[in-house]
Order: sequence, then structure tokens, then C-alpha cells
Amino acid sequence: MELSLSKQEQRIVELAERTGTDVLAKHAAAADHGEFPARSIAELGPTGLLGVKIPTEFGGLAGSNVAAVHAIRALARNCPSTAVTVAVTNMVADMILRFGNAEQHARFLPKLCSGTWLAGSFALSEPAAGSDAASLRTRAEKVDGGYRLNGEKLWITSGDVAGVILVMAKTDPAAGARGISTFLVEPSMPGFSVGRHEEKMGLLGSSTVSLAFSDVFVPDANRLGAEGIGFEVAMVALDGGRCGIGAQAVGMGEAALNVIAQAVEARKKGDRTLGTDQGAQFRVADVATRLDAAWLLVLRAASLRDAGKKMTKEAAMAKVFATEAGNFAAQQAVALSQGAALDRHSPAARLLRDVRVSRIYEGTSEIQRLVIARHLAASVS
Ligand SMILES: Cc1cc2nc3c(=O)[nH]c(=O)nc-3n(C[C@H](O)[C@H](O)[C@H](O)COP(=O)(O)OP(=O)(O)OC[C@H]3O[C@@H](n4cnc5c(N)ncnc54)[C@H](O)[C@@H]3O)c2cc1C
Repeated sequence: MELSLSKQEQRIVELAERTGTDVLAKHAAAADHGEFPARSIAELGPTGLLGVKIPTEFGGLAGSNVAAVHAIRALARNCPSTAVTVAVTNMVADMILRFGNAEQHARFLPKLCSGTWLAGSFALSEPAAGSDAASLRTRAEKVDGGYRLNGEKLWITSGDVAGVILVMAKTDPAAGARGISTFLVEPSMPGFSVGRHEEKMGLLGSSTVSLAFSDVFVPDANRLGAEGIGFEVAMVALDGGRCGIGAQAVGMGEAALNVIAQAVEARKKGDRTLGTDQGAQFRVADVATRLDAAWLLVLRAASLRDAGKKMTKEAAMAKVFATEAGNFAAQQAVALSQGAALDRHSPAARLLRDVRVSRIYEGTSEIQRLVIARHLAASVS
């Protein structure tokens, strides 16, 4: 695996790091009080970071998957709520680029990448279909000139603010996973509505909602790819998305490591700092080592995707390890900050609340382990 970056990748990393500290950090406290990061998105649009892998003609940066994970990690260090919003927009843009036609590219990508639309959204999960996504029930019935959508989606990131929502629905219920198709739903379509806003414990600036579809007419021109390939679209999206979540978790973990470094220096034990205590040093070493190992797994998965190779197992490994490393880092930040971390908006408390969900969305830790084990079993049988 090549660890050095090309000049173009280096430029994207520097841009993301600068944008993270100059733009996202200043709105991070507001996001943690529940404000959707619209101000940051407005400043992100002109940078191209809303479409890292999208060609420049559509407002993106034409970057690699490696550049994209670097960018998400840098944004997550400064504002996890914004990072997840941006990561989903990137994922949606990427799927439109991969599976869409020229007309769809021209219609959707510039608005997504420029920030004209606050976000893109990806709607797979349903009340009775989370981990077992193939059992989704939202129905897309063929009618003259398009499809009629009926159903409900749950826990959808940015579903209320997105300009376009990738919706997976059954076009052929008898065909199981092969009977799912993907639709580009626009919020102005009659019959589309936003339901409950989830009151989460963390990522408070990221909006999470339920969506309802009641006889929503979606024209043929808004079907993404062929009928029946919706599950494949979802799985390709999740392979990339899991690298992005691993990167988010590493970024949050690094922010936690920074909190730890400050806490152990600031805290005095007699005439010595906590940082000279061997117990604290062991914790710092474990956090840093786990985060570095996690980052290497994320880079491996992203590099394989750049090489056009199948990387489902590697993406699952990166996600499960990185999200657990990020959670471990935040737990240690709370432990070492002690009383200061009991303020719920303190950096340590915020990171602990924000990083927890990374072990749930785009497939829980248990599901990642199943994916890994099944790939290993397939490779020996
Ligand atoms: C903040 C947030 C944002 C989200 N954003 C989106 C989004 O933008 N788009 C979207 O489509 N979805 C989104 N989700 C949904 C998310 O992907 C699901 O919550 C997740 O896939 C788990 O599904 P579930 O909640 O239905 O849990 P379930 O599938 O009911 O799982 C419950 C528990 O059982 C375990 N489990 C389930 N099946 C197995 C098994 N076979 N073996 C072992 N253990 C198992 C799980 O690991 C989990 O611990 C989001 C969720 C959250 C919390």
C-alpha cells in the first residue's frame, strides 16, 4: 500500500485541514447545541469538499478515495456533526456519478457540490429493516411515465434538509434483494413528508428524521441505474461510506487525544503533572496506537477502492476497528479530564456523545463482524 500522497491529494488534505480549523471549529459549539451547520456548509460549497471525488466540471475536486477519507477525518476533528453531513452528501454525489446518466449528473451534481442544496441524503433504513436492509418494504409500483412510491424510512441523516434523497424501494417484492431499485426523490414531490426529528444523545447538529412517502410520483428520469440494482447501489455506497465513518471516528479520536494531552499536562499531582504518571502514559500510548492502526485500516480500504478492487471485508474491518478505537479514545478523554468532562458540552463529553453513533450507522459493529467472518469463510470454502 502506497502511503505517500500525490500532490493533488496533498492539496485536498491541506484544504480540508484549513477548512476544518478556520470554518468548522467556529460553529462546532452551536452544532453541539442543536444548530444544523448551514453556515459551515455555505462556506464548504466553494471549496469543492462537498464532492471530493466528483469531477471539477460539476464543482467537485476530482480526488481519490484516499483524499476523501483524509478530508472527512480532518473535518471530524473539528465538528463531527458537520463531518457526517458532508460525508453523506459526498456518498450521494458519488453514487449519482457512478450509477447516474449524463442528464442526472448535470441536474444533481452541481447543486450538491456547490452547497446550493444543504445536503444529499441516503434513505435505506426502515422501521423493520435496519441491519437486514434487504427486507425493506417501501414499494415503488410502476405506473405510466414513472413509479408510485409508498412507505416509510427511519433514521435518515439530513432527510429534512436535502435537495435530493436516494431512496431504496422494492420494484419487484417477490425478487428479494434483486427486486430493489434506487430513486432520486426531490422534496418538492407531492406526497413526500418529513416526520419525527430524532432527539439524539450526540451529533446534535446533524439532522436525523423519519420520512414518509404517500403515493409519491417519481418520473422514470429519476430512477438511478437499472431496475433491480438498488441493493447493489446501496452496498457499493456502504463500502465507501464505511471508510468515511472509519475516518470520522479516527478524526474524533484524534480530537480526544488532544483533549487527553491537555488534561494530563494541566492536572497536577503534587509537584508533578498527571502526564508523568505511568498509568496515564499507558492510556495515552494505547489511544494513540489504536488510532494509528485504525487509520492504516481506513487507508488500506480506501486505496483498494481507488485501485478498483473489491474491498467489502476491508471496509468492514476499517469501520469496526476505527469506530471502537474512536470510542476508546473518547472514554479515556472523559476519564482523564475527570470533573471537567461532566459539563455535557465540554470537549470530552461532546466527543463521547458524538462518537458513539459511529458504531451503529452504516452497519453496526456486530454486522461488520458478520461481514468479515462471512468473507473469510467464503475464502476458505
Ligand atoms: C444517528 C443515526 C443516523 C442514521 N442515518 C441513516 C441514514 O442516513 N440512512 C439510513 O438508511 N440509515 C441511517 N441510520 C440507520 C442505521 O443504519 C441503523 O440504525 C443500523 O443499520 C441498525 O439498524 P437498527 O437500528 O434497525 O438496529 P437492528 O438491526 O434492529 O439491530 C439491533 C441490534 O441487534 C444487532 N443485530 C442485528 N442483526 C444481527 C445479526 N444478524 N447478528 C448479530 N447481531 C445483530 C445489531 O448489531 C444491534 O446491536 C442512522 C442511524 C442513526 C442512529
